[in-house]
Amino acid sequence: MMAESQSGYNVETIRNLFPILNRKVKGRDLIYFDNAATAQKPIQVIEALTHYYSHYNANIHRGLHTLADEATAAFEATRHSIQHFIGAAVPEEIIFTKGTTESINLVASAWGNTHLQKGDEIIISSLEHHANIVPWQMVAEARGAQLRVIPIDDNGVLDMEAFQNMLNEKTRFVSIVHASNALGVINPVEDIITLAHKFDALVLVDAAQSSVHLELDVQQLDCDFLVFSGHKIYGPTGTGILYGKKALLEMLPPYQGGGEMIKEVTFEKTTYNELPFKFEAGTPNIADFIALKPAVDFIQDIGKKNIHAHEDALLRYATEKLETIDGLHIRGNVANKVSVVSFTIDDIHPQDLAILLDNQGIAVRTGHHCAQPLMKRLGIVGTTRASFAAYNTFEEIDIFAQALNKSIKMLK
Ligand SMILES: *Cc1c(COP(=O)(O)O)cnc(C)c1O
Repeated sequence: MMAESQSGYNVETIRNLFPILNRKVKGRDLIYFDNAATAQKPIQVIEALTHYYSHYNANIHRGLHTLADEATAAFEATRHSIQHFIGAAVPEEIIFTKGTTESINLVASAWGNTHLQKGDEIIISSLEHHANIVPWQMVAEARGAQLRVIPIDDNGVLDMEAFQNMLNEKTRFVSIVHASNALGVINPVEDIITLAHKFDALVLVDAAQSSVHLELDVQQLDCDFLVFSGHKIYGPTGTGILYGKKALLEMLPPYQGGGEMIKEVTFEKTTYNELPFKFEAGTPNIADFIALKPAVDFIQDIGKKNIHAHEDALLRYATEKLETIDGLHIRGNVANKVSVVSFTIDDIHPQDLAILLDNQGIAVRTGHHCAQPLMKRLGIVGTTRASFAAYNTFEEIDIFAQALNKSIKMLK
């Protein structure tokens, strides 16, 4: 057993904030290693939800009563907190959506349908989640544009030379994942952005995984858009973020029409509201966005750097343990990655393994991880993925490794 990774990092104090970690699964203490799919929620987030519904539930922005004012203030406080979380210049650059998926669809649709011409090119990578493939395929098909894909090597590392060769005057947009949800591999987004901008192509960064692990500064990165999901940063489901440079968001047409996104409506003509409301048609997910703020505060209070150091120590510990298991292959076993261990075991189907692990109280994810083209590229049907968060421990990894060895014996 290793000592805790960080002096001052108290994992027990952190665990006590997460009620779900007290539950049993199949008679065992829950070991939750499915954090890349969704993170568990600290008590502050859960209480913010019940407090809102018990004390100041109201529709926002239009009301002229106390409850509406309080709800509006809390909702907009989250926007400021997200602005600082990613280093955006102004709160108007933060658009609230349902999730990463909706954020990408918004950009692909609003930008793609007004800017893509026949023959234009969009670049994505072999590591993308389906959410960063399908919306671009849809708009490319509608506009007669071409989708190009940056290749990777067998370890999931991007071929940057191929990317450079791919860039040309027809390249209009590059949409790239920062850290792969399936393998954990981190892409060199800074270089990608610099190179793409030389060809005046816009760049969207899918930060669904990186937002919880890595320090992000959108102004320093100089990305044009950046997207992520609240539920992966210890916040509620149904909360998504779209960051966009103000000038770009101003230029784009609205994505959906309805209430809230308008300035004035007549049957002849409608004028649109200003940012960010132009992109937030209808009553938003008020409660969940209010409860997203304590999630961001939770990360900021401990410090993303400290959480990352802990997760990185867990990642290294788990990688060393798993590498000793006969026939086990870690996919994306590179130095530069977030706390995801994705692996296959010779002659064992990931699904069978997941069932045996669940019987021992361990939650991991198995399958293609919404990245079927990536699995195809690696020549596998899927992987078993263990992903670590702020509250995971070295003891849990010990138990996991034992359970894994036991399961393998049963399956072989
Ligand atoms: C989870 C994830 C998405 C999709 O996020 P949703 O919350 O399901 O909209 C997209 N890209 C990556 C890299 C992800 O991890």
